[in-house]
Amino acid sequence: MNGSLVVVGTGPGKAALMTGATQTALARATDLVGYGPYLDRVPRRRHQRLHASDNRAELERARLALSLATEGRHVVVVSGGDPGVFAMASAVFEAVEAGDPAWRELDIRVEPGVTAMLAAAAEVGAPLGGDFCAISLSDNLKAWSTIERRLTLAAEADFVIALYNPASKARPHQLGQAFELLKKIKAAATPVLFVRAAGTADAEVVTTTLGTADPSRADMRTLVIIGASTTRRVGRWVYTPRGERGTP
Ligand code: SAH
Repeated sequence: MNGSLVVVGTGPGKAALMTGATQTALARATDLVGYGPYLDRVPRRRHQRLHASDNRAELERARLALSLATEGRHVVVVSGGDPGVFAMASAVFEAVEAGDPAWRELDIRVEPGVTAMLAAAAEVGAPLGGDFCAISLSDNLKAWSTIERRLTLAAEADFVIALYNPASKARPHQLGQAFELLKKIKAAATPVLFVRAAGTADAEVVTTTLGTADPSRADMRTLVIIGASTTRRVGRWVYTPRGERGTP
């Protein structure tokens, strides 16, 4: 059992934002496992086996990757962005915890990647310059009441909030509900950013405020950033000063 399993993230999309360590792991792989569109971002090598699967089948995909590694294959599990941020790395360890005890002895590694939040922030300046948090708005794996509670407390603590998975066809109304909740705590003038396809050639940024933000602007390729009380615009950029008072 000399196989291995490396969990990688492709970064937000642009090839230059994929790390060298991830490229090396991909080049050495005998098997690539992942959601089809993420596998499409990865350079193909002859003799590599591809195992594309549906986006939701995370645990199944993790188990497949672990079984292949047990057979001596060099498996790379491919996520978008960073593999540990709302992605496959946790699913792999969940599968290890619940699965064959031999899986605990496998050579398993995680390579970091550029997560969407960082690519989105870089498109607009430095909105994550102070304390911030990341919340996934998807209630596939957790209750909506949990999300509401986290949004409320993050807003009360004046974090900058990065929202992953702000909307999908199955969940068109949640971002609007999130904005309504945040408006009760944060000022209407708080900067809100919709960053679509960050870190790709098609990146689009909309800078607006909590009072006027239109939730229908977000789709599955959008990262939404809601500022803290100190987050502000300067020229065409948005930044959050590092100091609490926010005075230049
Ligand atoms: N592991 C990924 C996140 C997976 S969750 C990462 O670290 O980036 C999927 C969500 O990430 C999307 O719904 C969207 O909110 C965000 N996302 C992923 N890539 C993005 C990009 N290039 N630009 C903006 N948002 C992106």
